[in-house]
Amino acid sequence: MKAVAVLGLAALLPAAACAGEPTGSRQEDRERMLAAVAADARATGPETGRAELSPEVLAALGRVPRHRFVPAALASSAYDNRPLPIGSGQTISQPFIVALMTDLVDPEADDRVLEVGTGSGYQAAVLAELVDHVYTVEIVPELAREAEARLERLGYDNVTVHLGDGGFGWAEHAPYDAIVVTAAAPHVPSALVEQLASGGRMVLPVGEPGGFQTLVLVARGSAGEVTQERILGVTFVPLTGDEGR
Ligand code: SAH
Repeated sequence: MKAVAVLGLAALLPAAACAGEPTGSRQEDRERMLAAVAADARATGPETGRAELSPEVLAALGRVPRHRFVPAALASSAYDNRPLPIGSGQTISQPFIVALMTDLVDPEADDRVLEVGTGSGYQAAVLAELVDHVYTVEIVPELAREAEARLERLGYDNVTVHLGDGGFGWAEHAPYDAIVVTAAAPHVPSALVEQLASGGRMVLPVGEPGGFQTLVLVARGSAGEVTQERILGVTFVPLTGDEGR
């Protein structure tokens, strides 16, 4: 049974990874990561309601060269299903959490997506594999600079990195079909709800910074009504800036 599941995931992997990547680079590591992500999805299914993640999301995860988003010294651990430090006291999220958050916003090919908390640029790259354009905001100048250069090097020309306080979103390009927030705030920032399009979905960790949080899915219906659903207990770095208080 297990072998079948792993083979199924292997079939999702592309022949070539991504611009600038040799064909099949770290293929076994990627397959191992996808199998671990699928196993976590099944294990948390009763809570998340998403025991099976979409094949498109898993395939996107398999295409992004995660070893290019972590410090060189940690490259050998890049495909482990766990968060890793990326400098400036920040972390790149666990692959399962990246996959779950991506799945929860139901990305579509013509979507315009806002990400708050660029970090390494990894979540932005996964989204960029699936949607029309990703606008991502980072508050730490060095991380924003590095992520922008990294994404450009890897050929992601549909991601725009912005240095600023993402707790207020990025009004210039709103409304967004989807919003993904990768740092925890004690409440849902109201500017982000305002920048969500009708029919749009936002996923974010809500709860006390430094403690446990709940991943929350916010949806705006076609008549403008806003609903919230609690998905899973998580731990994220805090959203800093004025909306993180
Ligand atoms: N999505 C990232 C992981 C992010 S860790 C990745 O895939 O690598 C959370 C990030 O949010 C950190 O880089 C942190 O600096 C950033 N952050 C925290 N508060 C922020 C704010 N108010 N606006 C924008 N970015 C913020």
